Amino acid sequence: MKVKKKGLLLVLSGPSGAGKGTVCRALLKNQPSLRLSVSATTRPPRQGEADGVDYFFLDKEVFQDMLKDGQLLEYAEVYDNYYGTPLRFVNDGLSEGRDIILEIDIQGALQVKEKYPEAVLIFIAPPSRFELEKRLYSRGADSREVIEKRLRCTAGEMDLANRYDYILINDEVARVAEKIKSIITAEKSRPRYFESFLKSFI
Ligand code: 5GP
Repeated sequence: MKVKKKGLLLVLSGPSGAGKGTVCRALLKNQPSLRLSVSATTRPPRQGEADGVDYFFLDKEVFQDMLKDGQLLEYAEVYDNYYGTPLRFVNDGLSEGRDIILEIDIQGALQVKEKYPEAVLIFIAPPSRFELEKRLYSRGADSREVIEKRLRCTAGEMDLANRYDYILINDEVARVAEKIKSIITAEKSRPRYFESFLKSFI
């Protein structure tokens, strides 16, 4: 499996409830050149979610076939369901020079970095443990049991933040989105994006 290299691959992740989805939506609004990768999942759709927009909702067998065929860039089992990033969208986008954003869990983000070291990993952290609990309960998407399971995972997940390129504390969505814009600008100033420009002087 080879990921081609022209665009920027940005990976947003962090503990459940840190607000990475909200940050991602804010970012996509004011950075229209960014393309969001739609993940495959075996979890059932929530109310209001559409197939092909929020996720590709798949049966476990179909997901496993994709995995076997090497069609996923990364995958993870998150809270008893499988989630994965279709490789083709990422590969095609990057090779056409597009900047791609993934909003995925921490296990998946670290797999991406292994396969594609130039990927830029951003860890979205909640402002505090208290705030995280409050957010998980107030969004009303999951049962108490699921929320408690998620909270138990958080300590280990926070420990992995050291392996990321950047950590952003999500105290205010607009500010985090602005910081990510600055990161994109800085990352796109790295020499690997100037190969043909530099060669044109030779
Ligand atoms: P949810 O079920 O709440 O939409 O997502 C649960 C978790 O799975 C979130 O942390 C989300 O970021 C993560 N996730 C979504 N898509 C992917 C993916 O393609 N790969 C991985 N590894 N995690 C994903």
